[in-house]
Amino acid sequence: MFNALVLNQEGKATIAAVTQIDESQLPQGDVLVAVDRSSLNYKDGLAVTGKGKIIRNFPMVPGIDFAGTVIESADERFTAGQQVILTGWGVGERHWGGMAEKARVKADWLVPMPQQCDADKAMAIGTAGLTAMLCVQALIDGGVTTDSGEVLVTGASGGVGSVAVTVLSKLGYNVAALTGRVDQNGELLKQLGATTVLERSELEADGRPLEKGRWAGVVDTVGNTVLANALAQTDYNGVVAACGLAGGFALPTTVMPFILRNVRLQGIDSVMCPVAVRQQAWDKLIELLPESFYTQATETIDLAQVPQYAEAITNGQVTGRVIVKM
Ligand code: NDP
Repeated sequence: MFNALVLNQEGKATIAAVTQIDESQLPQGDVLVAVDRSSLNYKDGLAVTGKGKIIRNFPMVPGIDFAGTVIESADERFTAGQQVILTGWGVGERHWGGMAEKARVKADWLVPMPQQCDADKAMAIGTAGLTAMLCVQALIDGGVTTDSGEVLVTGASGGVGSVAVTVLSKLGYNVAALTGRVDQNGELLKQLGATTVLERSELEADGRPLEKGRWAGVVDTVGNTVLANALAQTDYNGVVAACGLAGGFALPTTVMPFILRNVRLQGIDSVMCPVAVRQQAWDKLIELLPESFYTQATETIDLAQVPQYAEAITNGQVTGRVIVKM
């Protein structure tokens, strides 16, 4: 028997409780992993609170990512004792996830632990950090260089945002961090490498189809009018990587930025991202993130604290990354 956070549905409410479960209850898969760390992402917040229709089949163990050690593997790519990372693939949504002391998953979903990394660092980064790196890579692939101009990161004090700010700054970009919490997090964002910190309200109101160009690139975690305004303020040939919906899933924009400024809107998905792309992104993250990131922008909680933090993350009240320790 081992501990897991288990979600059940009672009426319309989602109830989360730390429960003892038996290994035989785990779903099918070819690798059994002793989970060391999971993390709390925005999607976990939606799942655990029931605010988003993330989970359709109950009971469910949430946790869209984890890092741990292989206990046994029926797949020759993995051996007992090996450290691994999992993010995405519907784990913690359709397949029991990382917020448990053990998980059984498909070998295809696992990435070997990168060199110089451990479970703690891996989940300090987690799905949010991986997604941030995919966004940054999209800007690089789209031709945005450190000489192109300033890069905007929205939802900057969140998980994706804080990693994006740190990585972009490490790569030498001038980073403008947009946040609704300047007073609380402005100093931290500067420590992570932002050159400018902007009030969210500057980009939240309905804007014009085109504004004065300000950004060579954008990493957007917010969506809605913030993304629309960011597009309208993007320079000629600029690239906007859109990965999130913390401010809503609408996109009230026009074709103007695309047809008059050659702006590229690149969608970013980490869930079904191919393994080879993930491995490159993980290696880059380990290379680029300074030790200070792990101390400044993370906190660690245990399974029993997840429901409270899930509520907080869906209310935009979590700063940086939350590691869940088994
Ligand atoms: P966090 O909650 O950690 O960060 C989101 C940030 O957005 C908050 O910290 C806050 O930053 C800002 N924010 C919160 N609420 C609002 C609001 N109502 N309006 C405007 N801004 C708001 O979440 P994550 O970093 O884990 O995820 C960010 C987004 O990216 C989520 O929508 C998530 O679903 C998505 N995502 C997508 C992935 C993909 O594969 N496409 C993978 C991972 C995440 P501040 O206070 O600084 O303004």
